[in-house]
Amino acid sequence: NLTDRLADAFKKLRGKGKLTPADVDGTVREIRRALLDADVALDVVKDFTGRVRERALGDEVSKALNPAQQVVQIVNDELVTILGGQQRRLEFAKNPPTVIMLAGLQGAGKTTLAGKLAKWLAGEGHTPLLVAADLQRPNAVTQLQVVGEQAGVPVWAPEPGNGVGNPVKVAKDGVKEAQRRQYDTVIVDTAGRLGVDAELMKQASDIRKAIDPDEVLFVIDAMIGQDAVTTAKAFQDGVDFTGVVLTKLDGDARGGAALSVASVTGRPIMFASTGEGLDDFEPFHPDRMASRILDLGDILTLIEQAQKTFDEEEARKTAEKFATDTFTLEDFLSQMQQLKNMGSIKNMLGMLPGAKGMRQQLDNFDEREITRTEAIIQSMTPTERRQPRLLNGSRRLRIAKGSGMTVTEVNALVNRFEQAAKMMKTVAKGGVPQVPGMGPI
Ligand code: GDP
Ligand code: MG
Repeated sequence: NLTDRLADAFKKLRGKGKLTPADVDGTVREIRRALLDADVALDVVKDFTGRVRERALGDEVSKALNPAQQVVQIVNDELVTILGGQQRRLEFAKNPPTVIMLAGLQGAGKTTLAGKLAKWLAGEGHTPLLVAADLQRPNAVTQLQVVGEQAGVPVWAPEPGNGVGNPVKVAKDGVKEAQRRQYDTVIVDTAGRLGVDAELMKQASDIRKAIDPDEVLFVIDAMIGQDAVTTAKAFQDGVDFTGVVLTKLDGDARGGAALSVASVTGRPIMFASTGEGLDDFEPFHPDRMASRILDLGDILTLIEQAQKTFDEEEARKTAEKFATDTFTLEDFLSQMQQLKNMGSIKNMLGMLPGAKGMRQQLDNFDEREITRTEAIIQSMTPTERRQPRLLNGSRRLRIAKGSGMTVTEVNALVNRFEQAAKMMKTVAKGGVPQVPGMGPI
């Protein structure tokens, strides 16, 4: 994939004190091939590699201590630029409701996105109303109703049994309904076709004219490859849009389409959809996407996710304990218990570079282990928990009996604790996020 190919391109530069123009050209050629193979549009690739080459041959690299790293940095910068630079947020209308219209091909993920967006907006304190203006497919309205129910957001839909119906009217009525009942945002789901066609464009464009939306989000499946650019251009000409939403980023495509669409249309990518569930959705950050493509690890996202589970203050205290050598078996136990809550830890690790070894350990990770650990530590006296050094043979025997474990198991636990404490002491000083209790990495 793109990430591996780019990594290969950089590998050859590693350890070079100075880069010759031939080195730079070789790398740029490989980047170019990797991007083309990942379905990035030719024009975009040309632009991109041109800028990378120019900068890589310039002063900032020749004067750098580590030229290879500098080139990675440049590639990263240029990726961010191509992906739209700054993150672009939704623009809310001064006079609510804010009207958001969705457009895109059939199967792109519009209806699913409508639910995700609605749920997300509700979570941010907004009061969204979903409007079912896709009257093309027989069950499109029902699908939005189901999604709305899951999101806990009301859905405006045409009366059933009223024949084919008029999507422009439904959209308009939906917006009126939102005004009347004082919803602050309206999300209008529209019909798509399997391919770009004139009738579809006209319908979407008529809806746009009728409801004058604050945002028109063009929803595109990141897996469609080369077609992404032509489809995006067709929608830009036919309906025009204010932002892009990439869906199915959970698939293999790691940004090829993303790279092209934003720079070809000049419209920012605003959201990313990464699965079928309503929570598989996030505001799009060009800088994070760039580092994900480069596999620098999506550290920021990782930290955000970790914070949901680990209380920040708690983490700070723990780090301090590690650093000052006052980490005890009680802390160890509470850390392990927190691990139980981290269901998504494997996903998180997927975002860290070089986390393969750790992921393997997690695969071996067994929740019963936590239960056994709990039993053993609870059979210790408070003093023993705070001063594991006291744990001599007879104490270990007593603990083993008390917890229904063997002395070997008690020994193993104490060893693991000591290893973890030692390892964490080292990393606490370096500030690298680590998962305690998992043994050496
Ligand atoms: P629409 O025709 O544009 O309204 O597309 P739908 O919302 O009906 O989605 C089409 C299919 O894609 C459904 O099976 C969705 O569950 C699926 N889907 C939507 N978004 C994503 C995503 O981000 N990842 C994955 N894997 N599937 C998605
Ligand atoms: Mg739909």
